[in-house]
Amino acid sequence: MCSLWRSPASIDYGRITSFLDKYENFSISITGGEPFLYEDLYRLLKYCLKRALRNEITGIHISSNGTCPEIRELVVKFAPYARWLEMTFSLDGIGKYHDVQRGYNGAFRSLIDNVRFVRRVAPGMSLSLKMVITSINQHQIHRVWQLGKALKIPVYFKVVERVPSYYHRNYSIDIKELLPDFGLIRSSLKEIAKEYRDLYGESDYLIYSTYLEPIISYLESENMDFITTCRTPACSFFVTVDGSIFPCLYMEPVGNIVSGIDEDKLFSVIKRANAGDCPKCLAYHGYLQWWNFV
Ligand code: SF4
Repeated sequence: MCSLWRSPASIDYGRITSFLDKYENFSISITGGEPFLYEDLYRLLKYCLKRALRNEITGIHISSNGTCPEIRELVVKFAPYARWLEMTFSLDGIGKYHDVQRGYNGAFRSLIDNVRFVRRVAPGMSLSLKMVITSINQHQIHRVWQLGKALKIPVYFKVVERVPSYYHRNYSIDIKELLPDFGLIRSSLKEIAKEYRDLYGESDYLIYSTYLEPIISYLESENMDFITTCRTPACSFFVTVDGSIFPCLYMEPVGNIVSGIDEDKLFSVIKRANAGDCPKCLAYHGYLQWWNFV
């Protein structure tokens, strides 16, 4: 995973690719901030695509707020290669609920227009929505799910993390005020899990329910003690905007893309994660990665 921003200045393109050159048979997820604000995103995607066509990269994923005008230009350019690309847009509610949580008016409208644009111009591109549930949008869960169904796009849910910096987009919001009503979310997600089985059948339902299960367990127990082991540090790196390498974003970095990885530190983080001796999380980039459910 690679976190890219326009401000503060992001990692140099050459440094990213020199680092990636050392690896093969991996998938990359480009996230942010907002990746479409990264001035070298086009070059980076071209680099990844070339390597994907040589079977050296197995997947290219971009996680976006879905509202930047730059999205359309890039989708047009990469439309012939759409099947190698996956995109996820963050949706936090319908209409004003999304706008409030995102911190500006019109965010919802642009996102939906961009979903339709991607569907029309690059129908082969895999597209999904993710919703971070907070006290602002907790009544919107089912409506977001219905919208996903109408647009024929899967929706993934998670509960807002207790991390003060999480809502960096909207500085007027205090994280403590964002924590939602766990009982309400639990019943909404259970309903959706049932509906998913009717819609997509047993096999797909299994994947989805396995993903929803830890979230529902957390809502029931209000703790994450059920996480007794996590493979995320052994299976992935998260590279932040300053080039630091984190096998787990909640533990210490193990190096930098310029100076390399300290193997002892990496081993120590993996060991802690294997034993469940970690801060524990239900983050998309953390415990909620697919390799923890197979
Ligand atoms: S904090 Fe989260 S990502 Fe890190 S090891 Fe623990 S469960 Fe996995």
